[in-house]
Amino acid sequence: MTDIERHAYDVVVIGAGGAGLSAAIEAHQQGAKTAIVCKSLLGKAHTVMAEGGIAASLGNLWPEDNWQVHFRDTMRGGKMLNHWRMAQLHAQEAPDRVLELEEWGALFDRTGDGLISQRDFGGHRYARLAHVGDRTGLEMIRTLQQRAVQLGIDVFMECTITQLLAGNGRIAGAFGYRRESGQFLCFEAPAVILATGGVGKSYKVTSNSWEYTGDGHALAVRAGGTLINMEFVQFHPTGMVWPPSVRGILVTESVRGDGGVLRNSEGERFMFNYITEYFKAETADSEEEADRWYEDKRNNRRPPELLPRDEVARAINAEVKAGRGSPHGGVFLDIASRRSADYIRKRLPSMYHQFKELADVDITAEAMEVGPTCHYVMGGVEVDPDSQASTVSGLYAAGEVAGGMHGSNRLGGNSLSDLLVFGRRAGTYAAEYAASLGGDRPRASEEELAGFERTALAPFSEEGDENPYALHKDLQDLMQGLVGIIRTGEELKQATKQLDEMKERVRRVTVEGGRQYNPGWHLALDLHNMLLVSESIAKAALERQESRGGHTRDDYPTADPEWGQLNVICREADGGIEISTQPLPEMPEELKALFEEK
Ligand SMILES: Cc1cc2nc3c(=O)[nH]c(=O)nc-3n(C[C@H](O)[C@H](O)[C@H](O)COP(=O)(O)OP(=O)(O)OC[C@H]3O[C@@H](n4cnc5c(N)ncnc54)[C@H](O)[C@@H]3O)c2cc1C
Repeated sequence: MTDIERHAYDVVVIGAGGAGLSAAIEAHQQGAKTAIVCKSLLGKAHTVMAEGGIAASLGNLWPEDNWQVHFRDTMRGGKMLNHWRMAQLHAQEAPDRVLELEEWGALFDRTGDGLISQRDFGGHRYARLAHVGDRTGLEMIRTLQQRAVQLGIDVFMECTITQLLAGNGRIAGAFGYRRESGQFLCFEAPAVILATGGVGKSYKVTSNSWEYTGDGHALAVRAGGTLINMEFVQFHPTGMVWPPSVRGILVTESVRGDGGVLRNSEGERFMFNYITEYFKAETADSEEEADRWYEDKRNNRRPPELLPRDEVARAINAEVKAGRGSPHGGVFLDIASRRSADYIRKRLPSMYHQFKELADVDITAEAMEVGPTCHYVMGGVEVDPDSQASTVSGLYAAGEVAGGMHGSNRLGGNSLSDLLVFGRRAGTYAAEYAASLGGDRPRASEEELAGFERTALAPFSEEGDENPYALHKDLQDLMQGLVGIIRTGEELKQATKQLDEMKERVRRVTVEGGRQYNPGWHLALDLHNMLLVSESIAKAALERQESRGGHTRDDYPTADPEWGQLNVICREADGGIEISTQPLPEMPEELKALFEEK
């Protein structure tokens, strides 16, 4: 065994996005000796890319907004499959978390009265997203990062965790390597918080960055944990489609929240043709009414462009399929003809620059071409709603890696608030758990560490004949083609068969060079996680024989009330993913009553 760098902590947080930083700050404040480990540089996590805002019922523009309305919107957006308790805690605590962020130095855009400004997003009844132009994630990360550094929390940057130490069903720490040098590291800690974000890199067209290889999902499963509802993958309706090099990059929902409309190649504002029964009562059915909403939100129904993301993405997909798409296979998103150039540049500065620099399109003068892009995974590690504890003692998960909160479809803005609410909760309970153990701490075994090291070094073996980049491309093609926005049972069966073959191929992946910054090696290791996550998504999608939120089955095109009562669970068995179902927890009567109110 080579030298392994060793560290000991009470709580180790894997991930330095909004969830990881919130968790670490709280664990530290609870008195736990805490470390943050992240794949990229501090400040570079995915959260920094978030654009539109943080959903919280502050009621600054609409005094009638409150946690009950936010809870109801979130549950309806998730098609009632959300864990009710998570949705409740989230709606109740989000306003305090936003104000806390402000106390720590976040500078939000203001209303005329000097309050935190709130913007409209799909599925939210009231303008509810606290924002900083269209760069909210940057401000959030800046604030949390500054706070973590100020508190003196140890940060291990550019380190990838490849395994959790989890003997006898209890967490003992985490094992990984420094990306720059290839040096192995071991963190001994009785409590580990996964805050590793999402899984988008398994898909070809995605808004997600290189970090989203589903590491936390895979780490949890390998440690004996479970994943919940992995079939629900959110395809954001508006990603860039042209030029090819930028395909998938996000076009924020704020464009539609601020007045942008979707048109097909015939110039038709087609979303009026896709208003489902579920949202009919609250959606405008004429252009006049939709436009009146921007002037008077209280007395008018919302424009159909602001339906939840799953509805809009399916509509765009259908228009393109029907031959009414834009030249490069999307549809048109037009704000230029509806708002002044000054307004657009002020409210959407990043979008203005993104299109100008990457596509040579001036969005103040012409329409954008947009289409669905894999954006977010609703499925994730199964956790206790209050504490974020997984089914493995000492293992917690918060943020995008955790499941349950968003049901079958997440509303925009509800992720950033989720990170703050549940990151903090995970920090509290992980610190409490570590303290409760006293001296009775599980230790890393030398044998286990030696095994992890061998596994990590396997791609350097000369026997392999598979290239990691080729396998990654094949995986992305497969997930995009067979487990994408619209699915069928036949295609999903094909996908699981091909994934089995890829699991054989990944064992034969070989890389050249040494351990010093070697991207091929990094990818070779990440591929194991992407395959495990992809298998979970494909098998869960095959299991759920209905269409709901971010899971559309062509062979089961409607929502089925029986499936609406079931969660799909993934766990590891015999080197693969085993699927089971479990009933949804029963919602208390007083919360049920909220759905009867108008
Ligand atoms: C372009 C874009 C815009 C968005 N806009 C919004 C918005 O306006 N509002 C909203 O609510 N949501 C938005 N979202 C979604 C939201 O940004 C994400 O869901 C959220 O930031 C995820 O945060 P997180 O803390 O869970 O993970 P991240 O911020 O992604 O952080 C993950 C961390 O885990 C680390 N990590 C991963 N694997 C490992 C490993 N093996 N070892 C060590 N470290 C690891 C990474 O380095 C990183 O530090 C947007 C997403 C995108 C892509």
